[in-house]
Amino acid sequence: MFKCLYVFMVNPIIKIQNLSVTYNLGRSNEANVLKNINSEIYPEEYIIFFGPSGCGKSTLLYTIAGLEVPTQGKVIANGKDLQSLSEKELINFHLFYTGMIFQAYHLIPSLTVEDNILLPQIFAKVSLFKRKAKAKDLMKRFGLFEFRKRKPSMLSGGQQQRVAIARALINESPILLADEPVGNLDSKNADIFLDLLEELNKKDKKTIIHVTHNPRDLPRANRIFYMKDGQIIREVVNTEKVSLDKMSQEKISELERLAQAYPYLTESRLRSKLILNNLIFPFDIEAQQKIEETIDNYIVGKISKTKLFEKLDNPTEKGGANLYAQRAKNLTEKISKLAEKMKIVKTQQDSPSTPLKNKAVEIRTHLLDNYQGNISFEQAKRLNEFLSLRIIGKLKKDELEKLLDMPLKSGGMGLNRRTAKNFSRQIELILIK
Ligand code: ADP
Ligand code: MG
Repeated sequence: MFKCLYVFMVNPIIKIQNLSVTYNLGRSNEANVLKNINSEIYPEEYIIFFGPSGCGKSTLLYTIAGLEVPTQGKVIANGKDLQSLSEKELINFHLFYTGMIFQAYHLIPSLTVEDNILLPQIFAKVSLFKRKAKAKDLMKRFGLFEFRKRKPSMLSGGQQQRVAIARALINESPILLADEPVGNLDSKNADIFLDLLEELNKKDKKTIIHVTHNPRDLPRANRIFYMKDGQIIREVVNTEKVSLDKMSQEKISELERLAQAYPYLTESRLRSKLILNNLIFPFDIEAQQKIEETIDNYIVGKISKTKLFEKLDNPTEKGGANLYAQRAKNLTEKISKLAEKMKIVKTQQDSPSTPLKNKAVEIRTHLLDNYQGNISFEQAKRLNEFLSLRIIGKLKKDELEKLLDMPLKSGGMGLNRRTAKNFSRQIELILIK
């Protein structure tokens, strides 16, 4: 059954209403961390809250778990306002309704794997025999049985996170809350763990609420709430996942692909971009991104005109944009003419790129893509220089901001104060990613 139909027939398992959380209310360090959040989460959904570090994701998750108290508004779980629960009811909610998984695992170091998993069962009115049998099933399922007598420190990160998930499941809570659960894992172990979360969602019918700053995780979700500065700025339904019921990076929608490329645009801007792209550009988003990247490499002098043609012509497997040869040829000519006319092409050589240059290009592209004003060639060049210096640590955050603001003739980039500040903020956000 399609989730979207399902949604109208079932009551939300979690309802977040006009939720605001302010830390240090009334003090000089008052921080308005969540601002009027509204959302409904339905049973068996896989939800992701996505946003940059510091946007309030963890605070939101803790508030949903009843571990943080709303300053305004409420969280309603299965029809009940969490704040109206007695202390005992709230403990029961933590133990039997939600299971929590953290980035840093939060296992108890002095307990064995088995005892860590059994911990939430201490308060359950179940015999020790039954509890142990349940833990055994979970340990077998997650490949932990042979390590059951070990302490967490003797396990790899991936194994520790699987202990954490077994612990979250032992009481058969219907909701799993995961705070950057693969943030400490390498990409192979992250994939294994995310596959597991998806399996728990599909086979075991768990409702998953997952917060992350990593766009790689997004295709896993049925719905994604994009967050920025304590607010939900956009909601995207992963239609491909709902209809095909199969996660695949290739199958995520064009809109979602755009959303990944421009995480900070609003949904309506994304849709406009999609329409505009379809109007003026006969390629899909993936080919477009490849072409854009290739042009970028060409104009910064990383690749020659011959290489530009090859990149446009080559099939996707070889890292190309997979255009027909004639089309690739025409496009190469057009690009090189335009670049020449705009005097934006540097000396063309096929020099190998350095990671530093890549990072600077990534940040510059992001900044300029999202900037509405005009930037001269000279300004773009300065921006590149400053970014490189910032990346290698030769410029501090505030020094960079000053340079962005400073007039061109004094050696700066000549932006106005607000834009300089805004650029600086975005640069730091990308750098900490
Ligand atoms: P995220 O998980 O998206 O990185 P958090 O929810 O951890 O964001 O934090 C959001 C903002 O709230 C940050 O600016 C953080 O510094 C601030 N913050 C978090 N916890 C507290 C607290 N206990 N007291 C004051 N400020 C806090
Ligand atoms: Mg966090």
